[in-house]
Amino acid sequence: MNTFEFKNPTKIIFGKDQIDQIKNEIPHDAKVLLLYGGGSIKKNGIYEQVTKALKTHNVIEFAGIPANPEYAILMEALKVIKEEQVTYLLAVGGGSVIDGTKFLSAAALYDGDEPWDILSKNIRTLEGMPFGTVLTLPATGSEMNSGAVITRADTKEKLAMGGPGLFPVFSVLDPQVIQSIPHHQLVNGITDAFTHVLEQYLTYPTGAYLQDRFSESILQTLIEVAPQVLKDPADYNAASNFMWSCTMALNGLIQKGVPSDWAVHAMGHELTALYGIDHARTLAVIAPSHYNYNFEAKKEKLAQYGERVWNITTGSTEDKAHAAIEKTEAFFNEMGIDTKLSQYTKDYEGTAEIISKRFKARGWEGLGEHQNLKPEDVEKIVKMAY
Ligand code: NAP
Ligand code: FE
Repeated sequence: MNTFEFKNPTKIIFGKDQIDQIKNEIPHDAKVLLLYGGGSIKKNGIYEQVTKALKTHNVIEFAGIPANPEYAILMEALKVIKEEQVTYLLAVGGGSVIDGTKFLSAAALYDGDEPWDILSKNIRTLEGMPFGTVLTLPATGSEMNSGAVITRADTKEKLAMGGPGLFPVFSVLDPQVIQSIPHHQLVNGITDAFTHVLEQYLTYPTGAYLQDRFSESILQTLIEVAPQVLKDPADYNAASNFMWSCTMALNGLIQKGVPSDWAVHAMGHELTALYGIDHARTLAVIAPSHYNYNFEAKKEKLAQYGERVWNITTGSTEDKAHAAIEKTEAFFNEMGIDTKLSQYTKDYEGTAEIISKRFKARGWEGLGEHQNLKPEDVEKIVKMAY
């Protein structure tokens, strides 16, 4: 096992009707900026719960953070933070609103001229403006981690940022919120969380027994609850298991002491930036090709995954590993997720070359858990995903 440190300071408040608790978590002397997306919270009652809980707080609002949080819009929110001397941020939404809020938390205390540098120059945030979250969409794990991904439309970029200063102070997880999530968005959530585990689990060498079993249990739980949640999002027990699995998939725990890959996300982000494809769907496009391309290196772990998660008990290591990749792709397909780029855009020719060129220009010369995937490999993987 590799050497590691583990600290996750985010307080989780989980359960039915817990949104009201935010009144006890946000200091009364704070000037609060409530941030949300395109308005789903006004239709499903979450906005009312939040504003009722904060009726004795000093709160102003910023609405309209889009799916794939857009830099230009966040810069407008940053102006509000500065002009109104905001001291505390509250994100009410899914990964996009929470990630956008993390950018604002970092940018509010950043003393450079150009906040985009935080992303383009990979500047880690050691201290940000404090913020809490009310999660409305289980998927990303952003509610309990210190990373964010921000999109920039004018340059068609989507870049990651993070740092120990960007953990939410608290996050409220009320599983009832999933009742209003559209079916395709629930499917995205399951797929994103599932892939988060794969990125941290399908690595080599093997040997971290506990981390492996943590990962396998999250995957098994997602496979078990997916049909329940999709059939009836009002099934509270299924919703609870789904929501907590998504958080556990990316709160840092399962990646401690093991190498983690993240190449699927790196390539997937480019497909969102280029074609606007939903984040989760880009992962489902890239993942099968990535595991097939890196088959030799990952086959032991793929076979273990096949045995323990998909109950594949017969055949050689190679047979089990191949079957595990097929099962994964079928899992996505059965939920209605297409796994080929050509199913999302007619303009897919040339995508692989564009992405490998971009990675080269950024100096991303080594992706994957052992930093041995070159831009040339990336080009081949993306081509396999057409
Ligand atoms: P999202 O982009 O936050 O939300 C997608 C859509 O779902 C929005 O249109 C939103 O509508 C709607 N929605 C949210 N909650 C709802 C509810 N309870 N009822 C009805 N509609 C609801 O989706 P996401 O998958 O959570 O986030 C994706 C983003 O997170 C991507 O940019 C991805 O790159 C990033 N990400 C971050 C991490 C991380 O660790 N930080 C990890 C993976 C992915 P409204 O706008 O109207 O609210
Ligand atoms: Fe993700």
